[in-house]
Amino acid sequence: MKGNWSMFDRYDRKIDYLRVSVTDRCNLRCVYCMPEEGVVSLSHTDILSYEEILEVVNVAASLGVNKVRITGGEPLVRKGVVGLIREISKLDSIRDLSMTSNGILMEEYADQLKEAGLHRVNISLDTLDPDRYRQLTRGGDLDRVLRGISAALNAGLTPVKINCVTEQSSAEPDARSLVEFCRERGLPVRFIRRMNLATGDFGVVEGGEGGKCSQCNRLRLTANGKIKPCLFSDLEYDVRELGPEKALKMAVSWKPASGTVSLSGRFYTTGG
Ligand code: SF4
Repeated sequence: MKGNWSMFDRYDRKIDYLRVSVTDRCNLRCVYCMPEEGVVSLSHTDILSYEEILEVVNVAASLGVNKVRITGGEPLVRKGVVGLIREISKLDSIRDLSMTSNGILMEEYADQLKEAGLHRVNISLDTLDPDRYRQLTRGGDLDRVLRGISAALNAGLTPVKINCVTEQSSAEPDARSLVEFCRERGLPVRFIRRMNLATGDFGVVEGGEGGKCSQCNRLRLTANGKIKPCLFSDLEYDVRELGPEKALKMAVSWKPASGTVSLSGRFYTTGG
């Protein structure tokens, strides 16, 4: 399959990272991700089956992808996700298999995920104030996330990294308290300034790799089977129409130099 194809794009960036959104559904309603009025979820037939996702990951791995992150929505709300992790972990060429979760169900799944072959997790946490957390997530229970973080640490899904979304910067009080919390527990923390797909407002992730367009190594598989070469672009290639190999290759070939805007994209179908 590989032939003389290489996963370098037109800007000489090595594309070796695939973020896989397994669902558009979530058990939270974060104010900067989901609209107040809720969302019309994708139908069961629109969502890729685990077999289809595995085929895309398999082809991506054969083309040169060696890092896979499972995202959502909230990946742990989709039944059977542990089984998908188990299958992906069997691929020798995938050297880094991780998940981004809101942590609400992590206490229940941490040991199963580790046993299935997951390497590590990022958990979203924007504040340590239970009331603000409930307000930011429209009803979330902070205690469950804190227990989820402990469960992930105890299960060995390390490093457990914390993703903190800020309004503007890590100088904000919520972010400052998280710095202390993470320092005490040895948890790497990354600060993600609120992004706006429609206006193209995004920045470099503090403490992470996101937003560094000149070094961008990632593709995204959306929950309904589109390969997106860039979060801040409307370019997408349908794996059901084109087949995984052609969709992946076209995404690499047409990956933009940097993000602009995405009018059609939604964080909860692309996994951020
Ligand atoms: S905006 Fe696009 S090119 Fe830039 S880092 Fe994000 S995904 Fe990569």
